[in-house]
Amino acid sequence: MAGGAIRLEALVKSFAGMPAVNGIDLDIPAGQFFSLLGPSGCGKTTTLRMIAGFERPDSGRIELDGRDVAADPPHRRPVNTVFQTYALFPFMSVWDNVAFGLKYQKVSREETRQRVGDALELVQMTSYARRKPAQLSGGQQQRIALARALVLRPRVLLLDEPLGALDAKLRKQLQLELRALQREIGITFVYVTHDQEEALTMSDQIAVLAEGRIEQVGAPQEIYSSPATTFVAGFLGAANIFDAEVVYVAGASVTCRALGTQMTAEVTGTAEPGAAAIVIRPERITLQDSGSAVESGMNRIPGTVTHVVYLGNCTHVHVDVGAPKDLVVEVPNRSGPASVTHHPGAQVVCLCTPDAVRVLQRSTAALVTDPVTALSSA
Ligand code: ATP
Repeated sequence: MAGGAIRLEALVKSFAGMPAVNGIDLDIPAGQFFSLLGPSGCGKTTTLRMIAGFERPDSGRIELDGRDVAADPPHRRPVNTVFQTYALFPFMSVWDNVAFGLKYQKVSREETRQRVGDALELVQMTSYARRKPAQLSGGQQQRIALARALVLRPRVLLLDEPLGALDAKLRKQLQLELRALQREIGITFVYVTHDQEEALTMSDQIAVLAEGRIEQVGAPQEIYSSPATTFVAGFLGAANIFDAEVVYVAGASVTCRALGTQMTAEVTGTAEPGAAAIVIRPERITLQDSGSAVESGMNRIPGTVTHVVYLGNCTHVHVDVGAPKDLVVEVPNRSGPASVTHHPGAQVVCLCTPDAVRVLQRSTAALVTDPVTALSSA
């Protein structure tokens, strides 16, 4: 099956005068696993529903493989949707549920048998064909919902939080299965989720949405390690975000004043001298005793340990660096609980490389509270 390419241009949708999608431009290449990630209410589902044809945009274009589909009803678009609630017909067998859509495509009995059989095999549910949905677990029902969508051979599969109703362990398993399935069949998946880890695990590319707009689009590694805005940095993973003053810009390399010291940082896009913000991921910082020699080229932030939080696989050391909130340093517990040798009151130096410090654009969207850094400002 070939994947479909999607282009959204200046897409706008309001409900009762309140903008839900506020001017989205997006290119989703054919055959990608593409996630729309953002907090509740940011417009993910509305965007997906407009691609599916369930919702009409107020303005803007939706192209599928170069053709404007805005006027096409849902069943005329080469897309299919899988929802969080499986919406299987309870009185029909698994087989009949999967075969249902083919009746309306006037597919022959022989071809139906072949395609339903293939779809069930794809989701590893062949031996469950005679069961009713109530005789299946949540994960199995979602596999059938997937088979029911895939049997129609869409060029694009839209998935709206399809794993949202499942427990954490099953979610993780199905994330990997869905990723493998998408690679195997090669069609475009557009996946809506508010779960950053899920998006990072599965996607070729992620679009981070906030308040109906796109904040950043990129590969998972890029979005996480080179966030462009304060919102993206705060939404994906634990983040130390602080005010900074950019003093000098040389391409992607930026000299800035922050946390009472001068630092070398990097920027995604462009930066201008003046007020800005920076982010440093806790796992990119190491701790050293105050006074010991520091490798050249490293950023050096002196401070005092305020508290130490043991988290099992790692420990978070909170350091007062003279800013309104503490800098959080993540120490991997490679030597067990004894891995952290600095205790509250210890004078330390926090070290990080220039590429660990990112200069950010300030988002107009409200920042999501980060539980890691929230503790230090409490
Ligand atoms: P969630 O993760 O909670 O599903 P979302 O990012 O998918 O959120 P949307 O469902 O797209 O967000 O909603 C965006 C905004 O539009 C929200 O403020 C929501 O209340 C509003 N909205 C969505 N659908 C409707 C509707 N049919 N009528 C009125 N308001 C709506």
